[in-house]
Amino acid sequence: MFAKILAEAAKLQPGLVKLRRTIHSNPELGFQEWETSKLVQEELAALNLKVTAGIAKTGVCALIDKGFEKTIALRADMDALPVEEQSDAVYKSCKKGVMHACGHDAHVAMLLGAAKIITLLKDDLKVNVKFIFQPSEESKGGALPMIQEGILENPKVDGIFGLHVNPYIPTGFLGYKEGVLMAAADRISIEIRGHGGHGAAPHQSVDPVVIAAHVILALQNIVSRQMDPVEPVVVSVCSINGGSSHNVIPDKVELVGTVRTIDPNIQKTMPDKIRNIVKGITSSFGADFSFDYQYGYPALHNNKQMVEVVRQAGYEVFGRQRTLSVAAPSMGAEDFACFSSKVPGAYFFLGARPQKGEVYPWHNPRFDIDESVLSQGASLITACVFKSQEILLKEG
Ligand SMILES: [Zn+2]
Ligand SMILES: [Zn+2]
Repeated sequence: MFAKILAEAAKLQPGLVKLRRTIHSNPELGFQEWETSKLVQEELAALNLKVTAGIAKTGVCALIDKGFEKTIALRADMDALPVEEQSDAVYKSCKKGVMHACGHDAHVAMLLGAAKIITLLKDDLKVNVKFIFQPSEESKGGALPMIQEGILENPKVDGIFGLHVNPYIPTGFLGYKEGVLMAAADRISIEIRGHGGHGAAPHQSVDPVVIAAHVILALQNIVSRQMDPVEPVVVSVCSINGGSSHNVIPDKVELVGTVRTIDPNIQKTMPDKIRNIVKGITSSFGADFSFDYQYGYPALHNNKQMVEVVRQAGYEVFGRQRTLSVAAPSMGAEDFACFSSKVPGAYFFLGARPQKGEVYPWHNPRFDIDESVLSQGASLITACVFKSQEILLKEG
């Protein structure tokens, strides 16, 4: 079975490169993936799959429903980023200021590849398979609206897999981790309102710039003084806005930032901890404030049994030597967590380090991947489905 999967994937490789390049050169931002969605629908329809489009605007779902008891879902994200690509590649982005700088173009191509292989082997299936092409992972989050529109029902999903290409892992290697993989990501915004005046007469004003500086520094004490040192938490103020001239003290300053946590009980305490600091400092300097805390993607937890499926699929596709345990969780976030907080899930990394040249991080204008990952990814996703049958059905 697994040798057959690898052989079929190898045959698909040139077509997958073509698909990935088509998507790469026509990147679309979150919830605007209309062309990508159309391409996905056409590819799936050619396989005679039952296709539903327009889920959470541009999302697409295809289903192989053979009336089995269990259903496995496979998810790829489709969106690009507001980044101006700096590349000499023939498949460079045709759209100014928009780029597939995170590899979601490859994710779409790989899941389409897996759909082709699974369709070919569908007589061997003992589970139903749901292919989920999700909009907007990078900005507002397409996973949650898809769930709200019922993507995990009819048939009910029993397990879900997702992956991300990783330029820091060599091509041909798989990275996986049980338990927490990524953090919850929340957004804070703070407005500090003072009283503007002449830069030469600070005593006649309440200077929100100086107060903002105190607030920013004091917020760092939440992590260093109020948290258990072994507990991963990040508070970062990433944007400051206020003032427009060298000699005018402005009326107000706005701060925007991100809060990352793993433990939901700690996450719940963060709004009060931040508010208390902002309130104490602004009131002691005679300023006013407003504070807003928006909860974002939850932390991503990988289910033990689903990770076991990924690991064994990795052994089949890459061999034991190339299936690596990823040691540490990242404080990055990923809205696959919305799916895996509802049903058992596993999210993993696929090595895609370019064969030559420098390695650029995700979201960099020069980000690229080794395209030989495409058939590997298609094989691995397919292997996850067939390993799920062996492991999940055996254990019930
Ligand atoms: Zn990204
Ligand atoms: Zn990404």
